[in-house]
Amino acid sequence: MILRPLLSSVVSLSLLAQSPAPQPPAGPANLFVRGFPESEQASQMERERKARDMAQAERIRTYMERMSGEPHHAGSPGSRAVAEYAQALFREWGLDARIETFEALLPYPTSRQLDVTAPTAYRAKLQEPVIPEDKDSADVGQLPPYTAYSPSGDVTGQVVYANYGNQEDYETLKKAGVDVRGKVVLVRYGNGFRGVKPKIAAQNGAIACLIYSDPKDDGYYRGDVYPKGPFRPPQGVQRGSIMDMAIHPGDPLSPGWASEKGSKKLGREQAKTLVRIPTLPISYGDAAPILRAMGGPLTPESWRGAMALTYHMGPGPAAVRLKVDFDWSVKPVHNVIAVIPGTQFKDQWVILGNHHDAWVHGANDPLSGASSLLETGRVLARLVKSGWKPKRTIVLCLWDGEEFGMVGSTEWVEKHKAELEQKAVAYINTDSNSRGTLGVGGSPAFEQFVGNLLRHVKDPGTGKALAETPQRRANANGLRLSPLGSGSDFVSFLDHAGIPSLNLGFGGEGGGLYHSVYDTFTAYQKFGDPDFSYCRALTQLTTTMAMRLADAPVLPHEFGDLTKAVRSYVEEIQKEFPNADLKEVNRQLTRLSTASRAFDDEIRGVRRRSQAISPEKLTKLNQALMKTERALLLPQGLPGREWYKHQLYAPGLYTGYGVKTLPGVREALEAGRTEEAAQQAANVAKALRNCAAQIEEAASLLRGI
Ligand SMILES: [Zn+2]
Repeated sequence: MILRPLLSSVVSLSLLAQSPAPQPPAGPANLFVRGFPESEQASQMERERKARDMAQAERIRTYMERMSGEPHHAGSPGSRAVAEYAQALFREWGLDARIETFEALLPYPTSRQLDVTAPTAYRAKLQEPVIPEDKDSADVGQLPPYTAYSPSGDVTGQVVYANYGNQEDYETLKKAGVDVRGKVVLVRYGNGFRGVKPKIAAQNGAIACLIYSDPKDDGYYRGDVYPKGPFRPPQGVQRGSIMDMAIHPGDPLSPGWASEKGSKKLGREQAKTLVRIPTLPISYGDAAPILRAMGGPLTPESWRGAMALTYHMGPGPAAVRLKVDFDWSVKPVHNVIAVIPGTQFKDQWVILGNHHDAWVHGANDPLSGASSLLETGRVLARLVKSGWKPKRTIVLCLWDGEEFGMVGSTEWVEKHKAELEQKAVAYINTDSNSRGTLGVGGSPAFEQFVGNLLRHVKDPGTGKALAETPQRRANANGLRLSPLGSGSDFVSFLDHAGIPSLNLGFGGEGGGLYHSVYDTFTAYQKFGDPDFSYCRALTQLTTTMAMRLADAPVLPHEFGDLTKAVRSYVEEIQKEFPNADLKEVNRQLTRLSTASRAFDDEIRGVRRRSQAISPEKLTKLNQALMKTERALLLPQGLPGREWYKHQLYAPGLYTGYGVKTLPGVREALEAGRTEEAAQQAANVAKALRNCAAQIEEAASLLRGI
């Protein structure tokens, strides 16, 4: 993943007080598998159970070992080799698989140099040393630590320490009388997307940005460092993209259209997502000599890390010279796409995806998820061989270029947008996966669907159904899917194409090897998921999801949860901005609520009467349901970022990964632009009205049955 999730963003999952009992199947009105008639439930359950039993941890381990053997960053021969390996596996299992190649601006560093020039000379190492216990750390072909999309440059200046580099940190500096204009800003990783740090630094007049990993955030303060433990060693560095993905993800030179050989491209100077000042990530080993030589005011306590030194703001007397150069060539990205054709509704696609590119070896990020998805492919292929044919088409995708800015998935969505608008049912995304608790985020219309599913898949830690784990039962209000911001390949599907999306994975136990050369097979086996039971559980989850979504005669959408979710977004805004005029939004919310209830009544009616629905009517009904999320998009998009079309969700312009709900309204209010907020509220109302109309259409189709 591009952005590392904070523990707090990892979900509030919980289960359902007022929903049916977990022992299926109960009475006749029990919708334990939403979308299925009683008559089909038992056989569906049995087939799903068989599929889950087929998933093998040992195989997932093998895929990971193979794919993590050599560095495989996007654009490299290693990445191509991984794509070909995955394609060959899919084909060996009997699936139709192809590689779809796009191209994008993927800068690699050609020279990196950082010198402390005052008060005492020091040359930064900028290298992650070989660790004898981990042979992969010595591999050739590693992309050295850097932040992708930093401009080339050679600058010298005094240093200012700016904590996490968020807007409020600059307010604190200003109050302390510290001016960052013309200075090199040193910030630490954490508390927001890394790309936001140089963006804000540049807006405040800084000439360069250094981002280091403080041991307090993911080093020795948290636990033993690698290889003894999973935390970041002194010279470990977090690589990563600093593309301004809140404007648009994907190739910076082709916003909104697919970047292929010979396609139209912007000049680099026209690109809107490139950072303006030279930026480099460094280790705390390299940051210590700079911080130790800082003077000026003492920092507030919350700014201090865990190094044995006194944290000062500066400016200076420490001064540095930063010199970085990049190869700005356009390079290929290779997506692997495997298709299991549907029978009854072949033009309705259930899409699953995980990226395959890594910063270096990427055992955890992304191969834990990618290997689990490959196993999902093998299990589904075996079912097909044994005679199962899904009603809907299942598309399995392994994306390239995610680390640079969701490049492979974005170009793919842009290329196939018209077809996806017609055919996509849902997109299920996975990424890094390791021991820990399950996190699930996504479209609220699928809350019931996911809640049901968690009763049938076991938590490897407790051996009980995932729905039964303590953190899930704690909250009696039901399963809540956290709204999606950014950070992995679901962004284009949800925000640009209006495809309802889910993002899921186990984890949360932390570690500091993220985007370092030490995210290896050796480290993953020791600290990630030693017996691969959590990877197997992920396979079981995505396999069950794919089968249910593919075979449910009626798609499992439920709109009461959507209404509830939107109402909570509106209330949050109203609480923070009591003067905001959201009357029209509330009016449309009432309509949405009425439509949701009408739809549910009709579904219950059809069920009660055990009515058969003709295939033509089913197709129409499902098509209407597929359009409900699309209806939440507006063609003009959000202010200043028209690529983002969804009116309910977008990554924040100044958080980068964190979601902003009702983003047009919220960001206008936060910036004090009242007129724009009113305009945006009208847009949200319009999107809600469109969505309600779509649900009403689905309800009336049911009524006509
Ligand atoms: Zn990543």
